[in-house]
Amino acid sequence: MTAQLTLALSKGRIFEETLPLLEAAGIRVTEDPEKSRKLILATNDPGVRVIIVRASDVPTYVQYGAADFGVAGKDVLYEHGGEGLYQPIDLNIAKCRVSVAVSAGFDYENAVRQGARLRVATKYTETARQHFASKGVHVDLIKLYGSMELAPLVGLSDAIVDLVSTGNTLRANNLVEVEHIMDISSRLVVNQAALKLKRERLQPIMDAFERASRLKAST
Ligand code: AMP
Repeated sequence: MTAQLTLALSKGRIFEETLPLLEAAGIRVTEDPEKSRKLILATNDPGVRVIIVRASDVPTYVQYGAADFGVAGKDVLYEHGGEGLYQPIDLNIAKCRVSVAVSAGFDYENAVRQGARLRVATKYTETARQHFASKGVHVDLIKLYGSMELAPLVGLSDAIVDLVSTGNTLRANNLVEVEHIMDISSRLVVNQAALKLKRERLQPIMDAFERASRLKAST
């Protein structure tokens, strides 16, 4: 009997942009997570199933072996720490950046120069902590779980650290990007034990993902 593989994906951009990579490996997900409430989705391959989890939970499911492999953004992996995960491929999907943004009227440069203690709201506390520590800027971090853009508008924080893609959300809320912390794309993550025990099943999928993502990067 061949080993069953479980792939962890999050809904939205990562799911959508992983579909063509799966297709390149001959795998088609037969249900749409936007329409179904199911958390375990079948594929045309009886040996492969997809589980739908929150983006920030993907590394945890893979780390503990509840999923054999998954797709997670560099932002999420940075926060998680990557323990127990093998990260063989940058898939070049769901690209964006982590940036610092402030309200349009806020003089960020001056605040930093003067050594003011900044209040920074973010979901990415580890990324923010390391970034400001490397610049020697003192910050009070306020952990949020969503809609970071609101925080400076209502006086919860001076700045936010958040993902920016087109910049439309920042513009719509009268915020400006003042620092670029890092570029983000999603990576394939594989459970280290599964890589050894299920290599025969995983390797062809990893190879197909790698070829398809290299092709995408060159277009
Ligand atoms: P945008 O308006 O295109 O700059 O997108 C910004 C909003 O989308 C922010 O609320 C981000 O948290 C979210 N976002 C942007 N890129 C991504 C991504 N790759 N994965 C998850 N969320 C994202």
